[in-house]
Amino acid sequence: MLQVIARKLFLSLMAMTMVIAGPAARAQGMALLRDAETEAFLYDHSRPLLEVAGVNPNAVKILLINDPTLNAFAFGRYMGFHTGLLTIADTPNQVEAVIAHEIAHIAGGHITRGRDAMAAASRPMLLSLLLAAGAVAAGAPEAGFGLLGLGQNVGTANYLRYNRGQEATADQSSITYLEALGKSSRGALELWSKSRNAQVVFARRVNPYLLTHPLANDRLTALQQRVEASPYYDKEDSPEEIRRLRLIQAKIHGFLHDTNEVLRIYPLSDQSEPAHYARAVAYYRQSKIEEALSEIRTLTEAHPEHPYFHELEGQILFEYGHVNEAIAPQRRAVELLPDVALLRIGLGRALLATGEPAMVEDAVAEFRRALFLERGNSFGWFELARAYNALGDETMANLATAESRYHAGAKADANVFARRAIARLDRSSTEWRQAMDIILATQPAEGAPPLPRASDEGETPAPQPTTSETPDSPPETPDVPDPTLFNNSF
Ligand SMILES: [Zn+2]
Repeated sequence: MLQVIARKLFLSLMAMTMVIAGPAARAQGMALLRDAETEAFLYDHSRPLLEVAGVNPNAVKILLINDPTLNAFAFGRYMGFHTGLLTIADTPNQVEAVIAHEIAHIAGGHITRGRDAMAAASRPMLLSLLLAAGAVAAGAPEAGFGLLGLGQNVGTANYLRYNRGQEATADQSSITYLEALGKSSRGALELWSKSRNAQVVFARRVNPYLLTHPLANDRLTALQQRVEASPYYDKEDSPEEIRRLRLIQAKIHGFLHDTNEVLRIYPLSDQSEPAHYARAVAYYRQSKIEEALSEIRTLTEAHPEHPYFHELEGQILFEYGHVNEAIAPQRRAVELLPDVALLRIGLGRALLATGEPAMVEDAVAEFRRALFLERGNSFGWFELARAYNALGDETMANLATAESRYHAGAKADANVFARRAIARLDRSSTEWRQAMDIILATQPAEGAPPLPRASDEGETPAPQPTTSETPDSPPETPDVPDPTLFNNSF
């Protein structure tokens, strides 16, 4: 499922308008996409490179940015990749070259300039910085200034600008990482030459990759020499990885580009897997559900082992109200990939939509499992709250809503709902501690007006936590904003 998570603060741009909108509109906000298939591809290609680079793979988060231009960035423990990188790259190796380069910035601690400032900065400020960082990475430099209008006065653009020495170092390190894995670094050179040609394609914009990765001739020469000297120069991508990339490209085209354009790129005469995939999405977006189902079922029947084909079939059925029919394909996707939160949330939504108590109970289990895998998913918490509400469990619904608001960055809301929940929870329960954690983590600053209290008549007043009464530490506040903070989708 390709889910667009746009930040309402700027513009609640949906996927399609994001692409159709001109550069100026696009520059006003950064939209994160969630897609299990694309994320898996990026993580799978990042993990071995991170290990070789000596960075804990579990500590790094990948952001998928809805932007058709070719770019990528590293920011704290985050790596951001534009959808454009995936659609413009010809081979997985080209994507890997960019991943390896960004990992080198992380491994080399290249954001030195930002570090001290980040440690001192507040969470909302960092949130804005990350957004601004995305806007800067997305292209025109003035995009960053627009976001600074939020009251920030930090030279955000500097956060993503590495000096030439660092860029050259990152190039060299990236080759070292790829060679350690027995892989070619040819993709880096190929992408540079594409990027130069792409200058023409993005005629009215500065090519962002060249903007944030200025390529001096000496840097290119140094890169070229190492790449060509590598014993792995001719090493090719496996057919399986090429297939994965082609499917992801088809899906991104299908979801993000004009549907008529998609049907031109993937005409009916094209009976390849990617073509069926792209057309399934395009028809789905055109509300041609029979055609969409026919295309996706061609794939699920031919490749029952491919979880994302089932996921898309389930999504199409669900979105068009065939809730009961959506459950089987969603469940199949979860069976094939049990540890992917997004797939479990998809299944949970279908189960919840049936409204049948036994199914809703199952939905609760799916959401809980998903949130165990991805605790910061505020949308998942929101869906869990809906499920508890459907079961009449107001207390658990309040607790889930508190989590949802907390992970969406809405602290005051989170505090209110956590207080409502805690008033009805058993003090010895883990849920009581969970609610208390949220309350403590969302206390208003001293001097701030008192927060609204739980308003239910006859309700036990929520305990007023004091610092001496805090057995549990509040949820750890990450030193960089959690990507789900952008999830204001409800
Ligand atoms: Zn770089």
